Amino acid sequence: MTLNKRILLHMCCAPCEIYPLKKLRAMNFDVGGFFYNPNIYPRDEHTLRKKYVMEYSNRVNCDIYFCEGYHEEEFQNAVKDNTERPGRCMHCWYLRLKRTAEHAKRIKVETFSTTLLVSPYQDKQAIKLLGEKAAAENGVSFFYYDFSEGYQEAVRISAMEQLYRQKYCGCKYSLAERTAVKV
Ligand code: SF4
Repeated sequence: MTLNKRILLHMCCAPCEIYPLKKLRAMNFDVGGFFYNPNIYPRDEHTLRKKYVMEYSNRVNCDIYFCEGYHEEEFQNAVKDNTERPGRCMHCWYLRLKRTAEHAKRIKVETFSTTLLVSPYQDKQAIKLLGEKAAAENGVSFFYYDFSEGYQEAVRISAMEQLYRQKYCGCKYSLAERTAVKV
């Protein structure tokens, strides 16, 4: 009997978890989750996204490691020299991918990936390069796949499963960009 290859999947929110988890399992990966998203602002929003990742992961029987606490200062520190898009997002992605790669190394899982690759709104080629950089720095590998083929399916399932779907990317800048009134 061949054992499935383990993969650590960084998870940003429950709706984005749906398709990558399903697809990776279909590829015979044994998927474990990792939740580290200090970019999410404010704390209540972080709590909400975390809660739904926890609930959905339980429903689909996926073990997940949650980094303790709420550390928005780690995100702020990462983006302090560049708070505008697209530079800000590069630092944000790298911070989360780096922590995922470090955790994969710690628990001896050779490969990691991220649910960030399901969103049609994220720069997948930049995420790929940053994932590979984080992987090389930690002696693990980054699994790249364009999960956005499953984005609409995830939208449909998240509505069916009554999962919380956020209305902005996550950080306080994206919240301000969404709510800014143009005159
Ligand atoms: S817009 Fe999204 S990806 Fe960009 S810095 Fe904010 S939370 Fe991170």
